[in-house]
Amino acid sequence: MDIIVESITKKYGTQKAVDNVSFNVKTGEILGFLGPNGAGKTTTMRAITCFLMPNAGDIKVGGISIKENPEEIKKNIGYVSENNPLYKEMPVIDYLYFIAELHNIPKNKIKDRILEIINLCGIEGEKHKKISELSRGYQQRVGLAQALIHDPKVLILDEPTAGLDPNQIVEIRDLIREIGREKTVILCSHILAEVEATCDRILIINKGKIVADGTSRDLRKQSQGREIIKVTIEDGDVNDIFKSLQALPNVKLVDILSKGDCQFEVQSKPETSSRKDIFKLCVDKKWSLTELTPTETKLEDVFRELTMN
Ligand code: ATP
Repeated sequence: MDIIVESITKKYGTQKAVDNVSFNVKTGEILGFLGPNGAGKTTTMRAITCFLMPNAGDIKVGGISIKENPEEIKKNIGYVSENNPLYKEMPVIDYLYFIAELHNIPKNKIKDRILEIINLCGIEGEKHKKISELSRGYQQRVGLAQALIHDPKVLILDEPTAGLDPNQIVEIRDLIREIGREKTVILCSHILAEVEATCDRILIINKGKIVADGTSRDLRKQSQGREIIKVTIEDGDVNDIFKSLQALPNVKLVDILSKGDCQFEVQSKPETSSRKDIFKLCVDKKWSLTELTPTETKLEDVFRELTMN
């Protein structure tokens, strides 16, 4: 089920929490929605899930507008909110029964559906325990189970691995990927590794506006135009090499990575390359150039660059 967000704006007083935001998500796609604190992620998700109405713009889920039939849209959406609120005094199985009834799943089908979802979410061994007795990872699984019980076509997850240990994180990510094969999934996070490991596509929002949209590879490329190279030069004086590298016309910045090994990181000015100049410099000075390796831009750098202002 496709989601089409069309120029939505949501204001709180005079502040625009979301400012003319548009994007699409296709069936079977896992979209990572990334942004720093206060960027507008939750507000956007609340608009898609019909918990709030934007001041301007529209959202269509499966072709239905949030303005026309929000109740129909809600039927097709499973939502795990940031703090994963659950009735913690209830045993897992009773809680899921209660949620299934809320979704009007026919009584004769509830038992089978619960068993199916318990199996999918890997909570078979915990189903008779009170939710409060479960570890955070298992509580998160119960959150996913309640969001999936009515077999929604769209799944929205806000910070699904917050507070989990590394093993639990890997398990929940695997589970999301498994679920994501058949559904449209939006995963909100400010954890870059999470989004990169789980999502097909990444959208970055900053101060209510979309600042990037693409695969992690696309985003790295988008922010490029800037060459960073690791350089090792032997048979010369480290300070002399440093100064000579800095004096090259296209070089913006030189960092010494290791004085002993004469290893540097050289950043070129935007849209330029320093590789040939470095090679010529070494020939002229009779230094031995033993390494000249381009460094890939990290997604962290892209994120910082796009959200620092
Ligand atoms: P976080 O990662 O911290 O959860 P977020 O990206 O989800 O942040 P939002 O919760 O959407 O950001 O908030 C966007 C902006 O809107 C923030 O400046 C926030 O203070 C403001 N905001 C959100 N909800 C309300 C509200 N109910 N009343 C007033 N301002 C709000």
